[in-house]
Amino acid sequence: MNNKNNKVNSIVIAGGGTSGWMTAAALSHHFKDKPVEITLVESSQIGTIGVGEATIPTLRRFYGKLGLTDLDVIKATAATGKLGIEFKDWYKKGTSFIHPFGIYGQGTQEVPFHHYWMRDKLNGGESKLANYSLGVKLAQESRFTLPSEKPESQLEIFDWALHFDAALFADLMRDYSVNNGVKIVDNKIEDIKLSNIDGSIDSLVFEDGVIQTGDLFIDCTGFKSLLTRKALNVAFEDWSEWLVCDRAVAVQSETVGEPLARTISQAHEAGWQWKIPLQHRMGNGMVYSSQYIDDEAAEKCLLENIEGKALHKPRKFSYTPGRVKQAWNKNCIAVGLSSGFLEPLESTSIALVETAIEKIILSFEQPQYNQQTIDKFNEVTVLEYERVRDFIILHYKANQRTDSPMWEFCRDMSLPETLAQKVEAYKTRGDILQYPWEIFGKDSWLAIFDGFNIYPENYDKRADAMELEYLRKNLNYMKERVKNSVDVAPTHGEFLKKHCHFIPKN
Ligand SMILES: Cc1cc2nc3c(=O)[nH]c(=O)nc-3n(C[C@H](O)[C@H](O)[C@H](O)COP(=O)(O)OP(=O)(O)OC[C@H]3O[C@@H](n4cnc5c(N)ncnc54)[C@H](O)[C@@H]3O)c2cc1C
Repeated sequence: MNNKNNKVNSIVIAGGGTSGWMTAAALSHHFKDKPVEITLVESSQIGTIGVGEATIPTLRRFYGKLGLTDLDVIKATAATGKLGIEFKDWYKKGTSFIHPFGIYGQGTQEVPFHHYWMRDKLNGGESKLANYSLGVKLAQESRFTLPSEKPESQLEIFDWALHFDAALFADLMRDYSVNNGVKIVDNKIEDIKLSNIDGSIDSLVFEDGVIQTGDLFIDCTGFKSLLTRKALNVAFEDWSEWLVCDRAVAVQSETVGEPLARTISQAHEAGWQWKIPLQHRMGNGMVYSSQYIDDEAAEKCLLENIEGKALHKPRKFSYTPGRVKQAWNKNCIAVGLSSGFLEPLESTSIALVETAIEKIILSFEQPQYNQQTIDKFNEVTVLEYERVRDFIILHYKANQRTDSPMWEFCRDMSLPETLAQKVEAYKTRGDILQYPWEIFGKDSWLAIFDGFNIYPENYDKRADAMELEYLRKNLNYMKERVKNSVDVAPTHGEFLKKHCHFIPKN
């Protein structure tokens, strides 16, 4: 493809799962006043993956741009609040820590907080990092409140996300899209015709012989990646050497007690289990490595470790971790599972859908594109995927479990260079490197380092400018202030009941 501008008058989104409907909603909003026709093709015969229910705070920004409020979404999707993820038994059996969506403590303009905290720690201080995070403390006590809009100090800053019902969220996005003029086609794609001129996608051929043409195609066909991998033959980069889990089994169960305001990720011998509390049920699943456990044993482990009664037979998934080498190829952009998959340990798949959509919108200030637009999109997509990959790998690499070969393998594996440098910078100097296009900020990395007992040998010596006694007074003050804020917050259940009770549609 040369640098000529390709005009886009019609966009065809193939696939109506979470990624397809999010894309349709956002593009129909973006192109509202432009003569661009958007069609979404889905197959009710095939259905969607139906999991993907824990998110990170970027989701709230996504629907906010569409004009939807938190309460609109919570009510429509039976959602609960999520302050972070609790990792149980990851570092060693019997341990637990929370990765919050928020910051720790209050640093100075020059020196981040964790250097002060490290200085105290290296001088015999015993206060846990978690004590300085309002997000962690609220989550630990199952309390929930909205962050202050005008925080008086950094100690009041935290963020939050949602656990939602994936099917209800897709419905919400669908209603929004249809109201914005998106055309729906329910048909099964049987074939994809390529152009004789440049090999780009010419049309989708349905099982009844009807043909759907378009100028730009968005591939949201899930793991099948019908347009990107199958028709255009785009290569896939396999990351199994670092991410050994390649299977999942999921089941919904009845709710027991008040929903938690955090996702639970519990490590087991050959994988880990998620618990995602919604208002009307729990989402549960186990991600595991087929090298270390068979499907039957994984299912048994899952069912033995859920709290309420299972609501259906468990569903199984298999996948290869990694990404397609060019998410945008010719006139087709892969969004969602068709572009790659990283296990849901940090709830990043939907976030990567959001960033893909954001980049599409940035690429289409005008409804046209050229090869430079494509190259820029692909360059950023690679970086976003790799940074998430590194973050997830750290959870495996840093484990100190001695009870099973999978964890031993993970502990001994070599790291991607980018991650190795990050760990080294932290261990030697306490620096948390931030690369461009990281979804997770420094406090998230700090949470994981701390949760796995990785500590720096040194801290920023500018933290010595404060008398140790004065520093300790400050630390105590911060701890107290966080505690006081937690004490006055309602429980998560009270918050939901008061503000955002789920109203089922008839
Ligand atoms: C076990 C597991 C747990 C996960 N947990 C999380 C999580 O907690 N948080 C998170 O952010 N993400 C999670 N994810 C990822 C998340 O589920 C997906 O990113 C999200 O649902 C988007 O999926 P999708 O829309 O790309 O694919 P799908 O939901 O599979 O949708 C594919 C669409 O393509 C259509 N289609 C397929 N073939 C054809 C055809 N031939 N003709 C017509 N239509 C067709 C289907 O009908 C469907 O509409 C998880 C994934 C897995 C596997």
